[in-house]
Amino acid sequence: MSTNLISSGTSAREKVNLRTPDVMAAVQEQVESHYRSDVVEGVRRNGGIISVGDVTVRLAKQFGFCYGVERAIDLAYAARKVFKDRRLFIVGEIIHNPEVNEQISSLGIKNLTGRNKQADISELEPDDVVILPAFGTELSILQQIKDHGCQIVDTTCGDVMSVWKRVRKYASESVTSIIHGKAEHEETKATSSRALGNGKGHYVVVLTLADTDYVCNYIRNGGNKQEFLDKFSGAHSAGFDPDVHLKTVGVANQTTMLRGETEEVQRRVRQAILDRDGPEEAAKNFRFFDTICGATQERQDALRELLEVSMDLLLVVGGYNRFVRAPRNLARAT
Ligand code: SF4
Repeated sequence: MSTNLISSGTSAREKVNLRTPDVMAAVQEQVESHYRSDVVEGVRRNGGIISVGDVTVRLAKQFGFCYGVERAIDLAYAARKVFKDRRLFIVGEIIHNPEVNEQISSLGIKNLTGRNKQADISELEPDDVVILPAFGTELSILQQIKDHGCQIVDTTCGDVMSVWKRVRKYASESVTSIIHGKAEHEETKATSSRALGNGKGHYVVVLTLADTDYVCNYIRNGGNKQEFLDKFSGAHSAGFDPDVHLKTVGVANQTTMLRGETEEVQRRVRQAILDRDGPEEAAKNFRFFDTICGATQERQDALRELLEVSMDLLLVVGGYNRFVRAPRNLARAT
């Protein structure tokens, strides 16, 4: 986790402690008034189950914001209180939940990127404050903000940063990152940008097991380079050459993917490298680590447990993410 001291990201800026007791007390009160639900609290007090007439509602054991998102929301609210007279911006959505984003917007915090963009990075001035969301941002965007000399409130989750640490290490050792995630998701874009390292690194993003099998087949047998690049258009590093950059690979993942699927991606890629190189070389040419975050794992486990009980309806409370699908994904869906 980051410290409470919020770095400007530039040496010119002083660090500011947003989490003073009085600020956080006021933040807690405001956050609870916005997001706390008496209904949910009541069901929790009742052991996570409530029956009204013929209808029984069960609550998953883990429910609500993860610790990374709670922290990001707290810091955004705290930034509003501490930097009362300054313009506040955020890079993209703080989380993919329209209600939360509307609350952030109602605090006068303007979105700089993506859907519902309200301002442009080119308009930033040195006195402005820019919040980075829990899933972080791409290095190129971070650099533009730094170039404007703004105060940066970095709410990037520690679990996301631990993925960055791993892919940076891969890059420093000329290991290509195979990232299990959604190429268009902010977290994966941020991770991909770190996978380039100091220019030596490469990456390719796989979303599905079918993508993984395609990559594995290329590892074992080679294939049509252009077809590979077309298939992963928008999901690989510039200059990526599957004939060169699949020699030594490491698997990384977006922190919110399904654990079992990420493990399967790792298993399949590892087997492909083993088949191609034999055990001795494969030990050098394949790396992996587990970066599904604890909060995601707890929620996946809680859902699995909930699904053991027969039910008529599973109601998922959250932001329905209306991403416009990229042509690449449309092509896959067909
Ligand atoms: S990495 Fe996990 S805890 Fe952190 S913001 Fe993402 S889902 Fe939440």
